[in-house]
Amino acid sequence: MDAIAANLEEIRSRLTAAAERAGRDPASVRLVAVSKTYPAEAVGAAASTGQRIFGESRVQEAREKIPACPSDLEWHFIGHLQKNKVRQALPLFPFFHSIDSAALAGAIDRIAGETGAKAQGLLEVNVSGEESKHGFTPDELRAQFPALAKLPHLRIRGLMTMAPYSDNPEDARPVFRKLHELRDELQSAHQHPLPELSMGMSGDFEPAIEEGATLVRVGSSIFGTRPRPNKE
Ligand SMILES: *Cc1c(COP(=O)(O)O)cnc(C)c1O
Repeated sequence: MDAIAANLEEIRSRLTAAAERAGRDPASVRLVAVSKTYPAEAVGAAASTGQRIFGESRVQEAREKIPACPSDLEWHFIGHLQKNKVRQALPLFPFFHSIDSAALAGAIDRIAGETGAKAQGLLEVNVSGEESKHGFTPDELRAQFPALAKLPHLRIRGLMTMAPYSDNPEDARPVFRKLHELRDELQSAHQHPLPELSMGMSGDFEPAIEEGATLVRVGSSIFGTRPRPNKE
């Protein structure tokens, strides 16, 4: 587990350097340690270095893992969430990165209203237009944003995206820049604050920070190669 502490130290110093290159305060970028597929012991090792925010992408796995982890952590849901899992997810996760349809946003809002949960989240945008990706296209989001921003029990706090897979992190930069521009456009068109941009993973978090990410989601660079594939 010492490897996890060493990896985290390296990621934090790269995060700080990327923020400084962009003239940003490193404290404006929060690191989400993506612990999906890794055991509670790995979360514990990361938590003992001061890491506080963890990301999970499957509700069932999180239901088993979270009770075995330190209790002072903040859990973010980062994967594709099925509507029929919202009721189970809400008590575990105060923050959803990947709200990828108006129907899902509506389900979170409705169930949060029924149960008194406080839900916050980000709208996932399929910037690159890849068929395999979830999320709103930029035009869908332009059309649907006014209704989403008005949901009474779900606070929309920003946007999230995943860049297409590539060996070259620079390939992701135009995707991140477009998400930032879309955020600025929606924010000023609708007078709705969207302070958070969740973008960047192990392979591309540095260009994401240079393009304005406030949340980066890093898994394998912290915890090592994933023990098993992770698909909902
Ligand atoms: C798994 C996952 C990550 C972390 O990916 P790594 O390449 O392991 O850093 C980030 N975001 C989402 C949505 C994921 O599913």
